[in-house]
Amino acid sequence: MDSIILRYYKYHRGSRDNMLDELIFLFNENYPERFIDEVKGFFHNFEWPDICLSEKIVKGFLEPFPEEMQEINNEINDFNGLRPFQIEYLGTYKSKDLVTLYINSIEKTAGRYHAIVGSAQYQKRDIIRFLTDIIIVHEFVHWIVDILLKKRGRQGFKYTTQDEVFFHEGLAQYFTYHMIKYDKNVASVFSWLLPFQLKRYKVFQELITPGYNLNDVMVGIWLCVNSKKQSWTELKFYIDEASKIKGDSGHKISTILHR
Ligand SMILES: [Zn+2]
Repeated sequence: MDSIILRYYKYHRGSRDNMLDELIFLFNENYPERFIDEVKGFFHNFEWPDICLSEKIVKGFLEPFPEEMQEINNEINDFNGLRPFQIEYLGTYKSKDLVTLYINSIEKTAGRYHAIVGSAQYQKRDIIRFLTDIIIVHEFVHWIVDILLKKRGRQGFKYTTQDEVFFHEGLAQYFTYHMIKYDKNVASVFSWLLPFQLKRYKVFQELITPGYNLNDVMVGIWLCVNSKKQSWTELKFYIDEASKIKGDSGHKISTILHR
């Protein structure tokens, strides 16, 4: 068991001022309903998803990576015998409110970054921390979206079609980016990983183009969740519509719904 990750997590779990609190705060402040009222109780520290540390190496995670790969521009499963990197090799969110961190894969990835990019700037243990930040926020966004869907009586966390996969991974990466973009250390690791990943982990960039703001994205999520759609296409449509309307979230939602 990697003591750095364990200590890191214990430290943050006991802290009131951490990235997960910030993430919840972000949704609470910007989600069109009073998010915290809707899901009150889930956000008590001890009712957050448990984080399980696993030594398992997820099938598909290969070393060496990714400097042997070229940039990946489409949704392929293999690249010259190597697989594209996936965030979910380092952590997963499963139902029953469980986030798993794959500590060996995180450490290997940190070692790779350290060897290629960051050895002069960072200790490997620092990179493990940066990566763990990224993975935890990413997986907790899956959890938040899952809770929002559950509260609307959805039939299940849909993750079959490309449209559904892009919806979930696009949002997870969008909010991860949003949370870490001002921390140049974490942002540099996040950016380093991007070119080598499947398209599903890169589509979030379509939401950070000028013209769309966080408020519009939250309106898009609200409209998708309330119409029980887990669709990247629908999400982008709603965000685009919201971006064209002036006013607050409630006004944007009612305008879109009554068109
Ligand atoms: Zn994910």
